[in-house]
Amino acid sequence: MTAISDFIDSSATDNVKKAIAAAKENESIHALLSLTEERALERATLVDKGEITGRLAGVPFVAKDNFMTLGGTTTAASHFLEQFEAPLQATVIERLEAEGAICIGKTNLDAFAHGGSTENSAFGPTLNSADPTRVAGGSSGGSAVATALGIVPFAIGTDTGGSIRQPASFNGVVGVKPTYGTVSRYGVVAMASSTDTIGCFATTAHDAELVMDIMAGRDDRDMTTLPDFFAPAEAPTALKVGVIKEFMTDDVDAGVRQQVATYVESLKAAGHIVEEVSMSMLKYALAMYYIIVPAEISSNLSRYDGVRYGRRAEAGNLSELYGKSRDEGFMAENKRRIMIGSYVLSSGYFDAYYLQAQKARTLLINEFNELFKTYDVLVGPVAPTPAFKLGENTADPVKMYLADIMTVPASLAGLPAISVPAGTTDEGLPVGVQLIGQRRDDAKLLALAASQEEAA
Ligand code: GLN
Repeated sequence: MTAISDFIDSSATDNVKKAIAAAKENESIHALLSLTEERALERATLVDKGEITGRLAGVPFVAKDNFMTLGGTTTAASHFLEQFEAPLQATVIERLEAEGAICIGKTNLDAFAHGGSTENSAFGPTLNSADPTRVAGGSSGGSAVATALGIVPFAIGTDTGGSIRQPASFNGVVGVKPTYGTVSRYGVVAMASSTDTIGCFATTAHDAELVMDIMAGRDDRDMTTLPDFFAPAEAPTALKVGVIKEFMTDDVDAGVRQQVATYVESLKAAGHIVEEVSMSMLKYALAMYYIIVPAEISSNLSRYDGVRYGRRAEAGNLSELYGKSRDEGFMAENKRRIMIGSYVLSSGYFDAYYLQAQKARTLLINEFNELFKTYDVLVGPVAPTPAFKLGENTADPVKMYLADIMTVPASLAGLPAISVPAGTTDEGLPVGVQLIGQRRDDAKLLALAASQEEAA
């Protein structure tokens, strides 16, 4: 793995060439869908000439292929957008570029970010960086793996229900899902607007902090963004830490529990006060998520109609054009969510499902708020198992959804949550610890993670 500092003060052209060579060497892992080699080398030349400077001058990175970028396609790993060339760049890409960072390519994901394994990609799965017979995690699997393989020192992704945290944990890198509204979503393919967030992968908490510091802040083109509150924090001392009891039961893989318990011990050793906490609403979080998120998906994905942009099917009339374009452009999981979403929003079922789920969501948020009156940070695993085998959950969508049980609560509540590497299971599979904080405590979580890294 590499760190951002490995790329600072060296030739940007060499950095880009090195990253592209590493991407090509690892082609069989399928972390990347495309390289933006030409544009990257052009920008590297400008950095080397001193025409572009900044905190990330000459540092290569990759972006999940649902961020609009210039210099190639933005596919969202779907047939719908297979040929789509974005007319502009996402705000975060612009912000990273303004600091001299260089995007060298676009990474694989579950199509439209629907999934937790990257197996829903229209272009085939990404393989796990520690064991190629296992999934990368998802939906930002490609970004996690590209970071873990050391192709780039950091990568960006989206997290709607765990899509940064879970692949980070499956590949042993740091993954950050910020407070809802921290980072602009302008120019990013929308999934579920009430939980979509933009974050990053890095190999250290310190690097992740730098990237978040650059990306965070108000954007007039995304009215959901908060004024910039992100400021790198000092290592916190004597925090009150709550370990979530419901996430440490016998249903959770023993290797995962063991590694999380070891991390918790290290928090105690560092002088933090650790207690067990319980949350009665957690058992409903997955049900809420898989009602609310498909509802928002069905609305957001209605823009793909075969008329405006993206795939356009051969058709004899308008209704056939809509139907066939959507049939050809979407994967089975996209269609499943559109159907579930349309169903829960339909007049006969709205009260029974969507409204109930939103009420339950408020109770979950209240429960978190109550705990944060006493605790600074909540801790648990990121996922109930380490990376599972390719194909293991593909036949059963509900089994696949169960893998999200520990990540969706923070998403529904809009809380910052990060995944921190916590060693491996006996089989050598990476395990991640999840640190969840109160809204706007993003930098505190990263500072805590950084101080634990140093202690280790
Ligand atoms: N695995 C979750 C889902 O399928 C999360 C996806 C995401 O965060 N984009 O919805």
